[in-house]
Amino acid sequence: MSVYVFGHKSPDTDSVAAAIAFAAFNKAKGEDYVPVMQGKPNPETEMVLKRFGFSAPETMTDATGKKVALVDHSDLAQAPDNLGAGELVAVVDHHKIGDVTTNQPIFFFNMPVGCTCTVLKILYDLEGVKVDPKVAGIMLAAILSDTVNFKSPTCTEADKKAVKELKEIAGVQDTEELFMEMLKAKSAVAGVPAMDLLHRDYKDFDMNGKKVGVGQLELATLDQVAEMREALYEAMKTQKGGERHTVLLMLTDVVKEGTDLMVISDDDGLIEKAFDNKLAGNSMWIDGMMSRKKQTVPNLQKAFGC
Ligand code: MG
Ligand code: MG
Ligand code: MG
Repeated sequence: MSVYVFGHKSPDTDSVAAAIAFAAFNKAKGEDYVPVMQGKPNPETEMVLKRFGFSAPETMTDATGKKVALVDHSDLAQAPDNLGAGELVAVVDHHKIGDVTTNQPIFFFNMPVGCTCTVLKILYDLEGVKVDPKVAGIMLAAILSDTVNFKSPTCTEADKKAVKELKEIAGVQDTEELFMEMLKAKSAVAGVPAMDLLHRDYKDFDMNGKKVGVGQLELATLDQVAEMREALYEAMKTQKGGERHTVLLMLTDVVKEGTDLMVISDDDGLIEKAFDNKLAGNSMWIDGMMSRKKQTVPNLQKAFGC
């Protein structure tokens, strides 16, 4: 029986590359692992898959009756539907441990580094499995993506070491050039509906019983969305509905290294307090903020009393 390797909902490059790399790792050991994704690839992922000669893994969103491995998450909210009606056999991740539970012991490999593909490179090395050059290419791209070309506070020495080794295996000379090509693809917003942009890299979190959604758009400059702010705010309003306490959209300027945080909330004061900042209209500029995982979410958790 195949094991299906799922990245999280709203797939990003790491969740897709890690699914492919973890499946390839197990296949190299003679096991039947199949990478899948829970939705369409985003423009950056699409570019990366194409550049290294992959087609997108098949889409799958339900775990019923299946053997399942999770990569790049261990939160039920981000996992395939009906996980409890399937069998979870493995988790490989680099986030805080989420709320999945199992009845049996499973393979669980999690490290506090910048990217799941860094964790996987360490796993390959640990088990003496050679990384396929094409797979090395997408792993490399995933690390550049998750660490924002090493600028994110989530980036560690292990990530830099993995990039150095993976670029040799993949035959990539210039990681700067690769990153700029990815940034160009990911920050293309012209003609894209606002709701699609909000969902391009979006996650829901449970904050002390309140549902909070956080999206992030990484941009080369905030000018790229200057004309779209109104439409983005409307999309956030729709997303919030009555169901969510807060919806945030991080407009991250990768060059200036900061985020203009768009906010719609039942309690603006709480969000201002969380980031020690003041809203000007419906957003606030937060210098140095790059990472949802390491900066946005922990600050929110503290403010919500989690
Ligand atoms: Mg991810
Ligand atoms: Mg990741
Ligand atoms: Mg990310």
